[in-house]
Amino acid sequence: MLTLDSKIEQVKRIGPKYLKKLHHLKIDTVRDLFFHFPHRYDDFSQTIPISQLKEGQTATVRGEIIEIKNTRFFRRRMVYPARRMILTEALIKDQGGTIKSVWFNQPYLAETLKKGKIVNLSGKLIFRKKTLCFSNPAHEVINKAETTHTGRFVPVYHETAGLTSRYIRYIVKPILYLAGQTKEFLPDRIKKEFQLMDFGQAISQAHFPANLIQAGQARARLSFNELFLTQLTTLKQKKEFAKEKSIAIPFDQKLIKSFVARLPFKLTKDQKIAAWEIFQDLEKPQPMNRLIDGDVGSGKTIVGLMAALATVKNGEQVALMAPTEILAKQHFETGKKFLKGYGIKIALLTGSTAKTFLKKEAKTTKPKIKKDVRNGKINLVIGTHALIQKDLFFKNLTLAIVDEQHRFGVIQRAALQRRIHQIPDGLKTTPHLLSLSATPIPRTLALTVYGDLDISIIKELPKGRKKIITQIVAPNQRQKAYDFVSQQIRQKKQAFVICPLIEESEKLAARNGAIELRSVIKEYEKLKQDIFPDLKISMLHGKMKPKEKEKIMAEFKKRKTDILVSTSVVEVGVDIPNATVMLIEGADRFGLAQLHQFRGRIGRDKNQAYCFLFAESSAGKTNQRLKALLTAKNGFELAERDLAIRGPGDFIGQRQWGLPDLAMASLKDIELLKKSRRAARFVLDNNLINPEMEKYLTSFQKIIHLE
Ligand code: ADP
Ligand code: MG
Repeated sequence: MLTLDSKIEQVKRIGPKYLKKLHHLKIDTVRDLFFHFPHRYDDFSQTIPISQLKEGQTATVRGEIIEIKNTRFFRRRMVYPARRMILTEALIKDQGGTIKSVWFNQPYLAETLKKGKIVNLSGKLIFRKKTLCFSNPAHEVINKAETTHTGRFVPVYHETAGLTSRYIRYIVKPILYLAGQTKEFLPDRIKKEFQLMDFGQAISQAHFPANLIQAGQARARLSFNELFLTQLTTLKQKKEFAKEKSIAIPFDQKLIKSFVARLPFKLTKDQKIAAWEIFQDLEKPQPMNRLIDGDVGSGKTIVGLMAALATVKNGEQVALMAPTEILAKQHFETGKKFLKGYGIKIALLTGSTAKTFLKKEAKTTKPKIKKDVRNGKINLVIGTHALIQKDLFFKNLTLAIVDEQHRFGVIQRAALQRRIHQIPDGLKTTPHLLSLSATPIPRTLALTVYGDLDISIIKELPKGRKKIITQIVAPNQRQKAYDFVSQQIRQKKQAFVICPLIEESEKLAARNGAIELRSVIKEYEKLKQDIFPDLKISMLHGKMKPKEKEKIMAEFKKRKTDILVSTSVVEVGVDIPNATVMLIEGADRFGLAQLHQFRGRIGRDKNQAYCFLFAESSAGKTNQRLKALLTAKNGFELAERDLAIRGPGDFIGQRQWGLPDLAMASLKDIELLKKSRRAARFVLDNNLINPEMEKYLTSFQKIIHLE
């Protein structure tokens, strides 16, 4: 007796050769097999009399084979030697007519589709040698009422690991009745309220839908499952997290007022609100878990420093983690500048550098810093991943700040916060966690992917920032843009050139890394030799050693170089106020929100800044999309557009979210997203988590944390 939990070894149709292939795809049980969903369907649902067939049509016919034969021929090629081909030709007859069908290099078909058999052929009709015929149609010998490969909506699966769609259909169809054993985990009232298909039915309809409507509903139900489980996971985490203990930091109004008064600028309204929300969180004896989401240059660092100041002045330790050395160093400098006079001992700790500030210890060794972090002499430690190394212990870490948090994985982010539990002689409380993100994302989406966080949004940029003049440059205007760059550099300004990164899937990552490298080197050589031979140009890319990058960046910051050619992946968040121009190559390869982020590197002070976009494709649609950069008020607006046009995967990588494909794809469906969140909240608030749901939740959490 087969069940959903049966091993696929028990499925009769699956032989040893295919077992291996299926296992390779982590398909071990019938359930796993069912969760291998098709990605699309061929509509072969229309069965048509042969006499009514037309060219270009996709159709199914049913008839008798009255002739079938294989012939050999040679296909001539331009370069390669002629290749021997086998052509199978068949003639099919129904009551009103006959139609020819051809297949290439599938000689065994002449064995399967013998003369006299009744068959279905499904596929596209073309003209070949002046006769209307099917070309490589799907075929199926008819010996029972129901069909699998023809005459219906036919599922098409991703053909990987040597498994064809036809094979998957062949093994799935006869056992699909088992989908009925799937236990429903959603409470009835939720299913009703959100008009969701039954889980088991959804699995079955997702594979062999009765029609497109059913297929759509099945998909909606399965997407809902994933979004719902994501929501439930994060909401549950949030609830759990709220049970942990933290040190409450009382709000010291005098301290904060003095700090704000000393700033060389006025805080924006959004900065004030964010700071206020943080201080309220810090006053509680439960850990804060807040994300500040704000455009590049919106001034998140200063808000973070305010929280750090309050915490340190309460006698506690603070850690600030940044994704790169350059950024960590910049924060170290910023911290030194703004926290001067408060008697705070700040340290910088990265892979290659270790420095402290205060008491004239300009340079200190790493072991010394680690010791001082452990004994509490250092109040604020700023650094990179070095902060989550196993050998670093904090005395009383009470606030952890993670800058550019999307550059870290879930686990790394949590590590900084969990760190504390591993210290034998340290605090036993959980630090407050403040994450900073310069990736504006629409609120609904944020609630989903950051469902366990409280969110403060900084939309408003500091006053006095000039709008960056952005232009899409036509290919024949390129020289003008270069002339403009020369002119700016003559005025002692600097320029960035950003080279495209080819969108990469996991597998291609390594190879594309090479492509990316090539494009930046090529651009660098071109600019140096042909375009700006008399200017100082440097180059930055992800393959360089941290030390090297640091040096290049430092030189650029000190104006030792005029132009920095860089790939897109390096060094977000670095502040070079003197850079006024940015050229972006292959702008059409990037998401709007991402372009907006690059652009945020310039226009950081009073100087007028310029951004020139070069697109590789001149399609109208591309231009239309890029034009949004000229009109949008802020990054959030662009993120909304990106989400609508390209889906969520494009403006922030899938990896960072750790969501499975289906959930990822359905993030674009705002309505479904809202529904799933409401449902999850309802289930949690009313204690409706049943054992079946718990089971899915557990396995789902494993997927999410598999980063
Ligand atoms: P981001 O949000 O991208 O991390 P930063 O914190 O690096 O932005 O701030 C960018 C620049 O703006 C810094 O030089 C910072 O000192 C400055 N800044 C921050 N807040 C304000 C403000 N309210 N008014 C003017 N300048 C500000
Ligand atoms: Mg920043």
